[in-house]
Amino acid sequence: MTPHAEFPTTSSPERAPPVQEAIPGFAPNALDETHFPAFENRSHLRYTEQNELHDVLCVGFGPASLAIAAALHDALDGSDPSLDLPHLQRQPPKIAFLEKQPHFAWHAGMLLPGARMQISFMKDMATLRNPRSEFTFINYLHQKERLVEFANLNTSLPQRVEYEDYMRWCASWFDEVVQYDQEVVKVMPEKSSAGEITTFKVVSRNAQTGQLESRRTKHVVIAVGGRPNVPAPFPSNHPRVVHSSQFSYISTKVLPDFQGRYSVAVVGNGQSAAEIFDFLHAHYPNARTRLLIKQEALRPSDDSPFVNEIFNPSRVSSTFARAPALRATAIADDKATNYGVVRLPLLEHIYETLYLQRISHGNTPAAAKTWPHAILPYRRVTAVSPSSTIKDGLRLTIRNQSPLYLSDTPGAQEQVEELDVDAVFVATGYKRDLHEALLGDARHLMPGGELADTKWEVGRDYRVNFRERSVSEGAGIWLQGCCEGTHGLSDTLLSILANRGGDMVNALFGQAKKGAGEEGLGYEVRA
Ligand SMILES: Cc1cc2nc3c(=O)[nH]c(=O)nc-3n(C[C@H](O)[C@H](O)[C@H](O)COP(=O)(O)OP(=O)(O)OC[C@H]3O[C@@H](n4cnc5c(N)ncnc54)[C@H](O)[C@@H]3O)c2cc1C
Repeated sequence: MTPHAEFPTTSSPERAPPVQEAIPGFAPNALDETHFPAFENRSHLRYTEQNELHDVLCVGFGPASLAIAAALHDALDGSDPSLDLPHLQRQPPKIAFLEKQPHFAWHAGMLLPGARMQISFMKDMATLRNPRSEFTFINYLHQKERLVEFANLNTSLPQRVEYEDYMRWCASWFDEVVQYDQEVVKVMPEKSSAGEITTFKVVSRNAQTGQLESRRTKHVVIAVGGRPNVPAPFPSNHPRVVHSSQFSYISTKVLPDFQGRYSVAVVGNGQSAAEIFDFLHAHYPNARTRLLIKQEALRPSDDSPFVNEIFNPSRVSSTFARAPALRATAIADDKATNYGVVRLPLLEHIYETLYLQRISHGNTPAAAKTWPHAILPYRRVTAVSPSSTIKDGLRLTIRNQSPLYLSDTPGAQEQVEELDVDAVFVATGYKRDLHEALLGDARHLMPGGELADTKWEVGRDYRVNFRERSVSEGAGIWLQGCCEGTHGLSDTLLSILANRGGDMVNALFGQAKKGAGEEGLGYEVRA
């Protein structure tokens, strides 16, 4: 591994990124690379002018793209034997990451105090691929001079706020190649004179100028994560209907007084719903909070060791190879590892919190109605309308099926209830289909694209399948984080990102190894 400050000797003359000045001391056109202390955390990837043809453009700079960046750095560094791509060291690729947020942030709307990672820190951006990488969580702790104290914590599950800081630290290495404030709006195929698609135009909206910008590239990686899922009947743009992804930003706007006597509903069965419910209890002592869940009880996530093996990097290939029906069944069977479930320590904490209300408010059915915080099982919201009792509030009409399951009276019927609230927080997950919209202009290249329901499909290496011979071998699009149906439950998580980042580097640049000379390279050679 080379020290932080050593650069490949083939680096091109540097220019400052035009939008952000993320690297302190970065001097446009006058970079003296011997003054490396100013670039202590500078990766081996170099800025490419916007108007140059790129080798790779990555859409989104979340953990999935960050893991690719880390793997690419390691490949250029020569520190990872699984990324034996010497031609890359001779000719660093022209790569850029386009991220819509103004800076690196990982689910910042849910960085609640005390929230923990649901995964071992060893499943960081690098360790499982290359424990010697700069980008391991351990190296981060070492650089931040907290290694010993972290060891004293005796946990493999850091707080989410620390893990975000770790990823932000990793991301800072790549400031030179990340364009923040760029929301990609479409990816358009471009034909060569021979009639084949050889490049793509990536169009983005610059949030600072409001203008559309475009960049051209041979390869595109779409790693945009999920879009908030706000199901019917909730309105998608009501100021008091807040998706969990926005919780930290908006909760104090709709509930500004921590001593306020608010009425609040939280909808959802999973980790985010439980965390929000718990947060409201802890921070709004006078509020009345109702957690509406579909089932009888909150259920624990299964992270027991045998089951957890489904998240092994090696499982991706066997999942992909499986017959589609078997694959779908297995994914459904294993859903309790990730969806609609809550980590056991949080469940136990919430149970104890609610138990304490039985002491302070009484433990009879009548007293239960006065509890400030309650979980209401077998509930579904069927309509949302303005409240007539709470100013600017909402009235939730709720189908209550709990009598069917929980009543002592035989033949009890379901009921309809109304709940007036100041705000409702919907923790109802994410949709992972943004790539379908971004690739709208490429549908004529999709096998079966003339049928409205056809979706993009990828191979094991995440490369999009186009119609035969429509896209050149030296061009392509890869999808990340939206391939759960073919690649398994780890696809949307952090579990395999270190290895997948390496797989992506091999998939994007490994083909170049086939060519003996530089003419065989699948990517643009730097001048
Ligand atoms: C609160 C919360 C906690 C979680 N905790 C864990 C955990 O402990 N362990 C675990 O394994 N998984 C966890 N997950 C799952 C989560 O999906 C992964 O941690 C991880 O975020 C996936 O990375 P990603 O890069 O695929 O997606 P994302 O993290 O969503 O990143 C996608 C990036 O693309 C950007 N983007 C989106 N659209 C565009 C566009 N049009 N143009 C440009 N940029 C765009 C986004 O701003 C974002 O930065 C958690 C999820 C949530 C919501």
